[in-house]
Amino acid sequence: MSDVNPMRPAAYQPDERARLRLIGEISKMAVSDLPSARVFTTALERTLQTFGLDVIAVYAGEPLTLRMQVGGVPARSGTAVPVGLALLAAAERKVMLVKDFRAEERWAPPPWASNAARAEVAIPIAYRGRRVGILDLCSPRADGFAEADLDTLGTVAELLAVIIAQESWGRVEVSSPELQRAYQRLQEFSELKAHILRNVSHELRTPLTLIKGHLELLLDDGPQALLSEQRKALLAVCDRVDDIVAIVDRTVSLSPTDDLSLAYERILVGDLLGEVVEAFERRARDSVVTLNVQPVARDLYLYGDADKIRQLCYNLLDNSVKFSPNGGQVTIQAQSEGDNVHFIFADQGIGIPERQLSQIFETFYQIDGSTTRRFGGLGLGLTVVNRIVDAHKGEIWVESEVDRGSVFHVLLPQNVPQEQR
Ligand code: ADP
Repeated sequence: MSDVNPMRPAAYQPDERARLRLIGEISKMAVSDLPSARVFTTALERTLQTFGLDVIAVYAGEPLTLRMQVGGVPARSGTAVPVGLALLAAAERKVMLVKDFRAEERWAPPPWASNAARAEVAIPIAYRGRRVGILDLCSPRADGFAEADLDTLGTVAELLAVIIAQESWGRVEVSSPELQRAYQRLQEFSELKAHILRNVSHELRTPLTLIKGHLELLLDDGPQALLSEQRKALLAVCDRVDDIVAIVDRTVSLSPTDDLSLAYERILVGDLLGEVVEAFERRARDSVVTLNVQPVARDLYLYGDADKIRQLCYNLLDNSVKFSPNGGQVTIQAQSEGDNVHFIFADQGIGIPERQLSQIFETFYQIDGSTTRRFGGLGLGLTVVNRIVDAHKGEIWVESEVDRGSVFHVLLPQNVPQEQR
C-alpha cells in the first residue's frame, strides 16, 4: 500500500469536465424525488463508466457486509467483507489505496472483482462524523487512481452519505403483513412513550414549582430568620430541586411528535457560553474537572433560540465533565465558520467505542446501561441536543477515542435559515 501517485497514462484520466459532470449528475439525483435505491445504483454506474472501473461495491453495517455492487462478478448482497483494504479503511477511518496488486502481493482484490482488477481504493462513507459505509472501487489498471480521481471519488462518497442518510438503510422495508403489523405496533409504542413522558413531566413539574416557591420564601425572610447552617442546607435543597426541574424539562422537550418551535433572537455567543459555564459551575461546585473556555470573538453572534442553545451547550458540557477523570480538562470553543458558528466541547475522558457512536443520540441510550454503572443520567441529554440542532437546521458530529476523550462538534447557522423565515 502506498501514497497516491498522480502520474498515470493520460488516456484513462477523465478530464475535469467529465468529473464535474459526474458530480453534477449525482447531486441533481440526490435532491430529486427518484427512489433512493435507483439514485444509488445510477450514481455507482455513472462512476464506474466515468473512471472505466472493474467493480464498485458499497458495504455497510456492523460487521461490514456487501450492500450493493456494480460491475465485476455478481455476489450475494449481505456477504461478509473479507479481511482486506475495505476493513482497514473502516478501522483507520481513512482512504486506503493499493496501486498494484502484482507489486503488493499481501493485498488481494475483493471476491467480487474480476481477474482483471489491478488497483483498489476503499473510501469511508461518513455522515455527521459517523461511518455509514465503505465505498470500494477496483480498477483494471495498475496506478488506476490518480490524486484528482481520489478527490472526485471522495465527493461521490460524500454525496452517497447524504443519500444513505435521507433514506436510511437501517429502516425496515415494510413489505409483508407481519412486518407492517410490527411497524404499526412500534409506532403505537412510540406514541405511548411520548404521552407518558408528557404526563409524568407535567405531574412532577407542578409540585416541584411549589417546593421551589416555598424554599425561596424561606430564603427571602432576611438573614436573621435562618441560622447559616440552615441557609446552606436550604440552598443545597434549592440546587437539587433545580436539577430535578432540569431533568423534567428535558423529558418535556422530548416528545417525538411535538414540533420544537423556536423563538429566534440575536445571541452573542460569548455571552451565552459565559452564562452556561457560570450556571454549570454553580451547580457543580465540587467538580474536579478544569473548564477551559477559549476566548470567543466579542462580536460573534447567531440567530437562534437562546434558551434551547443554552440547554444544548449545558448538556454537552455536562457530559464532557461527567465522563472526564478527576483532574481532567474540558475545552470549550466557539468560532465563526463560513455562515455558521462552530461550537466544540472537547474532553479527555473515557471516550466512546466507534460502533456506539451512532447510537448515543438515541432516546435513553447509554453505553453502560447496567444498574451498577459509574455515571448518572437518563440517556436523554444527547437526544435533546440532537433535536435542538435539527430544529435550527444545524449539524452535530462527534470524534472519539476510547480512553483518550471525545470531541463534540455543533454547527449552527448564523442567520435564520430561509425555510424558517
Ligand atoms: P446521559 O444522561 O446518560 O449522559 P446522553 O444522551 O447525554 O445521556 O448520553 C448518552 C450516552 O452517550 C452516555 O450515557 C454515554 O455513554 C455517552 N456519552 C455522551 N457524551 C459522552 C462523552 N463526552 N464521553 C463519553 N461518553 C459520552
